[in-house]
Amino acid sequence: MTLFLKDATFLDWQSFEIKRTDLAVADGPQGEISFPKAQPTEAALTPQDRLIDCAGKLVTKSFGCGHHHIYSTLARGMPAPRKIPENFNEILQYVWWHIDKRLDLEMIEASALASAVYCAKNGVTFIIDHHASPFAIKDSLSTIAKAFDQIGVAHMLCYEISDRDGEALREEGLAETDTFLAAGHQGHVGLHASFTVGDELLNKAVALAQKHHTGLHIHVAEDRADQEDALAKHGMRVVERLHRAGALELRTSIFPHCIHLSDTEKELIRQSGIWVAQNTESNQNNNVGLAGYASLTDNVMLGTDGMHCDMLRSAQAAFLAGQATESIGFDNIYQRFRNVHRYIRECGAHGDADNNLVILDYDAPTELTSNNFLGHFVYGLDARHVETVICQGRIIVENRVVTTVNEDEVLAFARDMGTKLWDKM
Ligand SMILES: [Zn+2]
Repeated sequence: MTLFLKDATFLDWQSFEIKRTDLAVADGPQGEISFPKAQPTEAALTPQDRLIDCAGKLVTKSFGCGHHHIYSTLARGMPAPRKIPENFNEILQYVWWHIDKRLDLEMIEASALASAVYCAKNGVTFIIDHHASPFAIKDSLSTIAKAFDQIGVAHMLCYEISDRDGEALREEGLAETDTFLAAGHQGHVGLHASFTVGDELLNKAVALAQKHHTGLHIHVAEDRADQEDALAKHGMRVVERLHRAGALELRTSIFPHCIHLSDTEKELIRQSGIWVAQNTESNQNNNVGLAGYASLTDNVMLGTDGMHCDMLRSAQAAFLAGQATESIGFDNIYQRFRNVHRYIRECGAHGDADNNLVILDYDAPTELTSNNFLGHFVYGLDARHVETVICQGRIIVENRVVTTVNEDEVLAFARDMGTKLWDKM
């Protein structure tokens, strides 16, 4: 099957070269794009081929999310917690750990489907998710994978293992991870954060990641409390602890946040080549502080931390906050927005080839050129411009409607599951 895009304004996402061209998009996880001299006539198309008229539309590579939580999907509009949290630990205790302990497989499926619908409609075709559901651990990852596959978005998943609910659930988290990765799925060994992970679990997680040739995905120094806990219990800071356990030798590890680091910790991260995921809006929402990353490492990608499913919004939020924290420029924020592709390539993961594309109906009031694209990226482009989305050569959103599932049914299912979850809270 080949998808033909006729008369597109194609923007090369790396060189910013812009050209009026026809495209042929091959399907499959490693599918290529090419620029044929002439498009086939309608009569020459096979029944499986498709031709989309892209006159006046901007076509470029679709987007990826470096740190997401589908488990937060059903939290939108939920009843207030029993106690209004006064610090980060209370936010976890009274909000997120209160929710995730009540999730069952049906709610997880609904959360993953709805979240993937939103991601797809926002042009996000690759999702790196970090999941928790302490009383529905078994099969949680395969449930999410199946839901993402149904929508047609590519993924790397993990279960957020911790010691917060005792040894039995910790072992279940390790087993779910081992089973999922052994089945050939792309993913990480997920850990919640240093302050909920004991030494035995940390060592087991590193060994499991080594076994499956992957990295850890663990929240790092999101709040000062993570550092205070590591110093009190282990006599060292969070990144030093992860370093001693061997986590920094796992080059594809992702450390979301990294807000409160010492110079020594920054140096360890810089030297290791591991990855940091920046989640500005979540940090603002939890009032944990904001970090500048320019002096930390070039391996920074952007995430949502489950706040929403819109990576253009994440980039613009990080750009605005970055004025105060690190005087960030247009080129730096665009690089961070696109670094997820470099990360996926370094992992050797599938699902992010050149045949992942967005067709944007971008109604610019001024001329768009290779030289000023970054200005349009920061101040102009947003999710409402995403008209059609192609993942692995397959159309998953067309004219702003998901083509792979019935959106109304997915959202009705999510609302039912939301009610079920809230009734248990
Ligand atoms: Zn997170």
